[in-house]
Amino acid sequence: MALFADVILPLPLRRLFTYRVEDDQIGSIEKGQRVAVPFGKSKLYTAIVYALHEVEPQAYEAKPVYTILDKTASVTEDQIKFWNWLSSYYMCSLGEVMRAAMPSGLLLSSESIIVKPEYLDLSDRDLTDNEFLLLEALTYQSQLSINEISDILNRKHVLPIIHSMVNKGLIELHEQLQERYKPKMVRYVQLHPTYRFEEHLQELLDILNRAPKQRAVVLSLFQLNGAKELVKVKSLLEVSNSSSTIVKSLIDKQIVEEFFLESSRIKEGEMAHGESPQLNAEQQQAFESVEEGFEDGKIVLLHGVTSSGKTELYIKAIEQTLQQQKQALYLVPEIALTTQLVKRLEQRFGDQVLVFHSKYSSNERLEVWQKLLEEGKGKVVIGARSSVFLPYENLDLVIIDEEHEVSYKQFDPAPRYHARDAAIVLGRQFNSKVLLGSATPSMESYFNATNGKYHLVEMTKRFNNVLMPDIELVDLADKYKRKRMTGHFSDRLIEEMTETLDQNFQIILFQNRRGFSPILECLTCGHSPQCPNCDVSLTYHQYKNQLRCHYCGFNKPKMSNCEACGNASLDTKGFGTQQVEAEVKELFPKAKVARMDLDTTRGKYSFEKLIERFEDKEIDILVGTQMVTKGLDFRDVKLVGVLNADNLLNFPDFRAHERCYQLLSQVSGRSGRTDERGKVIIQTYNPYHNILQQVSVNDYSSMFKEQMNDRHQFHYPPIYRTIKISLRHRNADLVNMASEWFAKSLRNALKAGVLGPEFPPISRIRNQYHKNIMVKIAPDRSLLKTKEAILKIENSFLSIKDFRAVRVVINVDSY
Ligand code: ADP
Ligand code: ZN
Repeated sequence: MALFADVILPLPLRRLFTYRVEDDQIGSIEKGQRVAVPFGKSKLYTAIVYALHEVEPQAYEAKPVYTILDKTASVTEDQIKFWNWLSSYYMCSLGEVMRAAMPSGLLLSSESIIVKPEYLDLSDRDLTDNEFLLLEALTYQSQLSINEISDILNRKHVLPIIHSMVNKGLIELHEQLQERYKPKMVRYVQLHPTYRFEEHLQELLDILNRAPKQRAVVLSLFQLNGAKELVKVKSLLEVSNSSSTIVKSLIDKQIVEEFFLESSRIKEGEMAHGESPQLNAEQQQAFESVEEGFEDGKIVLLHGVTSSGKTELYIKAIEQTLQQQKQALYLVPEIALTTQLVKRLEQRFGDQVLVFHSKYSSNERLEVWQKLLEEGKGKVVIGARSSVFLPYENLDLVIIDEEHEVSYKQFDPAPRYHARDAAIVLGRQFNSKVLLGSATPSMESYFNATNGKYHLVEMTKRFNNVLMPDIELVDLADKYKRKRMTGHFSDRLIEEMTETLDQNFQIILFQNRRGFSPILECLTCGHSPQCPNCDVSLTYHQYKNQLRCHYCGFNKPKMSNCEACGNASLDTKGFGTQQVEAEVKELFPKAKVARMDLDTTRGKYSFEKLIERFEDKEIDILVGTQMVTKGLDFRDVKLVGVLNADNLLNFPDFRAHERCYQLLSQVSGRSGRTDERGKVIIQTYNPYHNILQQVSVNDYSSMFKEQMNDRHQFHYPPIYRTIKISLRHRNADLVNMASEWFAKSLRNALKAGVLGPEFPPISRIRNQYHKNIMVKIAPDRSLLKTKEAILKIENSFLSIKDFRAVRVVINVDSY
């Protein structure tokens, strides 16, 4: 009987592909293994074996599996199960999930490009003939394609060789967008062979008679067994209490030899395990309540004000999991923003901590993946959203920190998943304990906590009874009228800044990036025109001189006077962090000012460096965007200034008010984290706006109630669910026609809840015209049936010849 394998190919095609298993492969092929398979005319891909069976495909002749790439499965059954959920919930292909899930080092294809690592120490490594040939070729040519390698090695099946070389670190996959990984090099020394025997020691000491310092180093080196082993220069310097110039002169005299070895990228057990601090009474009580929730089998939402000590509770929970030799996942919105947290965890748990980073190179990610597969017991993974894809085995605890963060949602490419929701499903799959935490929970999670689906735990006081910051709203309209503004700074903000600097404390200034949504705002009163149907700000379309709602298409001509105050002072521009930075430097020429935004944090460690400089008080005033709001813990920040809160309120999105509350509470939380009470100045044209009032007195529950009313009334999540369908093509007419067709078919099938098609705030991106259709699904409608209907329409759509070139992007639970 012939055997066939259904495999997942890393492609956006919603189906599996069947290949014939050759007779000599039959004993060694299993589910979850990687295999190389031919696809199309001449392509070769790494695929994952999904199922094995004896049913020959009817529609096409099955091609043979080229080679089996693994001895054992690379992907666990649990992962495949999770992939299946992601693919069906987020309406994408298994191949797209696979692509997102696996480090590219595990995903060779005929399009891969191979390069030589920057550092490669070949001394005492045994190379096979093939390895030697390939590395030799790479010294003449900086990169090679798979086909070129085939030619060099004169054989067809080169993927297994390449795979094994990638695993050994002899070669790397070229990734254009990734920064190349640089291994840390550690400097070692050893006595030169001529002096390695005891009898030569005296001779040596005689030579060094007149160089007592060098002599001392040589003695220390003997003491550290440097006659027989490599000794770290760092340890040698410590023991001999000398300087590196002295070591250098010994190297120059050829008394000692110098070596550079690669230190592993993942820290080995150097770190000592620290003691956990005692939880205080409120924390202890909260922790007990968390455990009760776990015992009831419920997901727990920990709602604790900023600096209430939530992280200590997470650490306590992780400790228990690690003691049982089980695994924990600690999900954070952006790992780059959590340098401090990683340090805290490493101090506590040493090499049990695995950090998973999207900025890591493929090699580094591969290393974490394999470490988890091979010695996964008793590990805590701290990572951003893609860490939900790692091969967990006995996942006992899932922590989702700052669960309200929008950056948990992946926009592009597919799978467009929400990592919080995916992590909850992953946790359920493993029967793990799931703990969500935030000072400002999302509407979704708090709704689940109020209706009994989640177990709610609240902490209302800051640790050590530090007071919540004092928040003052400053009325910009009034300040402008009375000429109390210098540039974008009110007299109140300047006064507080002056005082803070005098007392030698630090300042954070926050200015939201206006983003790419052109909205109209009145410079006199701050009003921004709203859509009557959708409760969002209208966006300004210049070419038609029109204001439009990008959900429903409501539109009206741009007016010249403000509807609210009647003044002719409507404006679309706004200002950014750069301008704020320039103004601060004028106002406070002596202060050290730095800026933190997308532009200043592009490099791999630029963010960390800024944080360190701020921690070390090399910076007095940090001007930044959203980035400064997130989870940073600085002792000496006493003042936070928000330059303009209105562009948060007026953002053309139904979550604008929720986001505004969260951002302002989080950024306020950066101030006064120790004994000194912090101060926050929020400048706004709308000091009586409910959201700002609620922020100023830390009234989350009123904010929640009020926003929920809007969500009910305007049919938004968490009451309704949303799916956004975006159509894209270079030709605007085609996009118009195609999206009309799509929307009409949806209306016909779903009857209610179809909005658009409508232009997004920016309707042309990289020469592609976009049009969106929003599907809102009422709580009493079946999500599954709606998705089926959409997929069916997509299918018919793609079978219409004229439309085939239009890209259809489906985004479930869109933001
Ligand atoms: P959150 O995560 O709620 O913002 P953290 O856990 O970061 O709060 O705690 C705030 C500060 O209080 C931190 O500096 C932390 O080290 C300190 N802290 C919290 N709990 C304790 C404790 N039980 N003992 C000592 N220090 C604590
Ligand atoms: Zn509308």
